[in-house]
Amino acid sequence: MKKLIALVLSLMLIVCSMAALAESKGTLVMATNASFPPYEYYEGTEIVGIDVEIAAAIAQKLGYDFEVADMEFDAIISAVNSGKANFGMAGMTVTEERLLSVDFSTSYATGVQVVIVREGSSITSVGDLFAEGAMHTIGVQLTTTGDLYTTWDLEDNGLAVINRYPNGNEAVLALKAGKVDCVVIDNEPAKAYVAANEGLVILPTEYVTENYAACFAKGDPLLAEFNAALEELIADGTVAAIIEKYIPVEE
Ligand code: GLN
Repeated sequence: MKKLIALVLSLMLIVCSMAALAESKGTLVMATNASFPPYEYYEGTEIVGIDVEIAAAIAQKLGYDFEVADMEFDAIISAVNSGKANFGMAGMTVTEERLLSVDFSTSYATGVQVVIVREGSSITSVGDLFAEGAMHTIGVQLTTTGDLYTTWDLEDNGLAVINRYPNGNEAVLALKAGKVDCVVIDNEPAKAYVAANEGLVILPTEYVTENYAACFAKGDPLLAEFNAALEELIADGTVAAIIEKYIPVEE
């Protein structure tokens, strides 16, 4: 009798562990910088946002568990390349330079670089940054496209001083404190920061429009799987619904 019970128990164990195996193919870790609302930000202790929801939907579709790893924006590409994370998703713009070190998924959203100033600022257009002898101090997030463009267009031509911060929040705090004259950042986080901080406005002229995508280590076969799921979620309207949930279309 004892032997029989032992046999039944061990059979049950085997069946259970097989079921557990079948349930999940493992965990996909997404590297992000959760200071970029509404794409990724903290709600209490939880990281939420457009990127998090799209990535969670992709992981679920593919049968993986899902985890988010928060880090500085500047650390995302090396986390992906060292295998600490399976992919990076952080409102990340597809650029020629990044394509030298990572592969990008199909693009799922667009962003626009805009300029935030204090109310009443003498800077009233993007053009003012380029004016002869302008020499404004510009706050950006380290190694973001806002950093790259202002460095190439302005700092390298002796037209501005760039102060680089690890995330958008710190750049905006520096603007409020008068340490920088403006912040160049993506439009949606800009709107969220202006809504959360009195006395700031976004200039009506746009700096540049760009495409957001997830980044992967070069040659990672996961990318094809990820893209197949992402493209289905774009086609069936799931991605648009997630974006609309966080960025309601203005009527
Ligand atoms: N879209 C910008 C970039 O890719 C900023 C992204 C971010 O700060 N999370 O550089």
